[in-house]
Amino acid sequence: MTDKKPFEIARETLKQLTLRKLAPTPLNYQRIYSEIANLPMEPPFPSERLRDIAIALPTKTPGQQRQRGLLESAINNLNWDGVKNALMAYGGFSPNVADSPAPQAAAPVPAPALVVAAAEAPVLTAPALTADFFAQVARLIEYAIPALGQDDERFTEQTQSLIKSLRQPQPDAVATKQMLVQYGHRLSFAAEDQAEIKNALLKLLHLIIENISHLSLDDGWLKGQVDAVMEVCVPPLTLRRLDEVEQRLKDVIFKQTEAKTRSVQAQEEMRQLLATFVERLAAMSETTGSFHQKLEESARLIEQARSITDIAPVLKDVVGATRSMANDSQTARSELLNMRKRAEVTEAELSKLHQELDRVSSLARHDPLTGALNRQGLEEAINREISTVRRQETPLCVALLDIDNFKKLNDTLGHDTGDTALAHLASVAREVMRPQDTLARYGGEEFVILLPDTPLERGIEAMTRLQRELTKRFFLSGTEKVLITFSAGVAQLASQETGVDAIKRADQAMYLAKRAGKNRVLGA
Ligand code: GH3
Ligand code: MG
Ligand code: MG
Repeated sequence: MTDKKPFEIARETLKQLTLRKLAPTPLNYQRIYSEIANLPMEPPFPSERLRDIAIALPTKTPGQQRQRGLLESAINNLNWDGVKNALMAYGGFSPNVADSPAPQAAAPVPAPALVVAAAEAPVLTAPALTADFFAQVARLIEYAIPALGQDDERFTEQTQSLIKSLRQPQPDAVATKQMLVQYGHRLSFAAEDQAEIKNALLKLLHLIIENISHLSLDDGWLKGQVDAVMEVCVPPLTLRRLDEVEQRLKDVIFKQTEAKTRSVQAQEEMRQLLATFVERLAAMSETTGSFHQKLEESARLIEQARSITDIAPVLKDVVGATRSMANDSQTARSELLNMRKRAEVTEAELSKLHQELDRVSSLARHDPLTGALNRQGLEEAINREISTVRRQETPLCVALLDIDNFKKLNDTLGHDTGDTALAHLASVAREVMRPQDTLARYGGEEFVILLPDTPLERGIEAMTRLQRELTKRFFLSGTEKVLITFSAGVAQLASQETGVDAIKRADQAMYLAKRAGKNRVLGA
């Protein structure tokens, strides 16, 4: 080191650069400066090259994403130790926490749990690592087991032995840390596997659904339902979406079974009718056969007769046989007529059944005009949401909106334009809402929107966003541009409150919004 002051070194450096006829590049400046100041010559920090490496690293798992963030901020802070730690963590090795330099105030880096502990509480001392701490880690790992599946026996064993050693009365901190590092490495693979399994299952589900639709091409209703199921089961999958897939599939299966049972019954009825018909035909030809015999016999007797008195009983027999045959034919005829009537009734029943299926299906849970849930669908959805709210203690908002001056729109532009307006509102709402939100048609021009995980303020904001979006988007009625507005009330479900009551509160707030001049959103 030299006792020269920095500005003196700087001045001397510039002088030397000129004297030695060196180009004034940062590298030359640094070399001369280090020489004069008697400092070791540090090569410059290769930020660009390191950034190239960071970009090339995979970020498939949350762990990898975290490490990549760490690496990037270490590069930004020209922090070699940070670069080293992040790269080691990528390789599955734990950065040596005890060796880490004291935290730098200028490096607010997001980091994995252990490193954060080191950064915030400068030294990770033994007293922090109590048996209770390890037991917490063990519990954390136990909670994650269901998400990772139990197909990989070695991984399951590793999990169990880690949990066991974490639960020892006095776990060895160093050995446990090593185990956690190795486990973390395996865990990232297991998590990736689970994600791939989920995608593969989804593909399989698509294949099955497609297959169902190919098998039932002639059934328009079924095809509609299958298309809807396909639409629902695309990522991002949430439990709510899966629930909807399940409900719809149940609908499909139920209706299919119902239709099948009824057509099997109808077929059986037709089969019995046919059997009776064949029996009748056989009986008729028997009757005509014996009538012919009777006639032949009578003709023979008449030929042999010598007096009129011989003929009289023969004629009596012939008349009797003719009458009985006529009677038989009459019975057969009325029986056949009867059968025809029954066949017609069965056929009419079948066609009614098909019509009913079509009607019921479109009414099942969705409103055909807007594609939103209907009242029945809303009731089910709200019950589902409420049970989640009670389980997870998350806020749920219920919004009720009513289109402004809708009657006037119908009166001036016609009912069809009114219908288009309803479908338009539903489609804008679907675009603006999050996938987990639910849209239902509550009445003529009233809609209910369920907003899970949403406190009141956010719920009001969401509805205001929809309102603004709607005022930006018009639709066409012929060549005329039509804009619609709505008034809405939003209520956050209170503890113990029923869905019906929450909707009622939202309705009251909506009414106040109308009274206050329409085209606004009020909280209940
Ligand atoms: P406000 O701003 O106070 O809500 O007035 P409004 O005219 O919107 O409300 P009102 O309740 O008086 O009228 C609602 C109208 O909605 C009456 C009804 O004819 C119409 N309507 C209900 N269902 C349908 C539908 O399916 N299609 C069409 N086109 N109109 C409908
Ligand atoms: Mg209304
Ligand atoms: Mg209205």
